[in-house]
Amino acid sequence: MTVGPEPGATVRAKVVAVAAHGAAIVCSHVAREGLPIMYAQRGAPIRPEDSGWQFLCNEGVEHTDAAVWSVSEVLEHEPTLLGLLEGPPGTQVVRERRERAWKVVPPR
Ligand SMILES: [Zn+2]
Repeated sequence: MTVGPEPGATVRAKVVAVAAHGAAIVCSHVAREGLPIMYAQRGAPIRPEDSGWQFLCNEGVEHTDAAVWSVSEVLEHEPTLLGLLEGPPGTQVVRERRERAWKVVPPR
């Protein structure tokens, strides 16, 4: 599995800024098999340390196994999500292909 380049100083500062969002769910395909994140959805946090964010390899895939990462770990893994995770519960962040830009879908 590939890991992105070491984040620069600006990236690092932003990672610190969103670290308060806490823990996130990452599907096993992303966490263990190295698939790219293609879909993220923020649910209502259950505990104060939860961000509510789930990061999945794909929206339509059935997921029975997942890992818990911090949001800052997710951003180090996928720096293109920087600045896109500030939305309230119900927000979705999606992209059609890995090389495409993310689309932020606000809560309905
Ligand atoms: Zn998956």
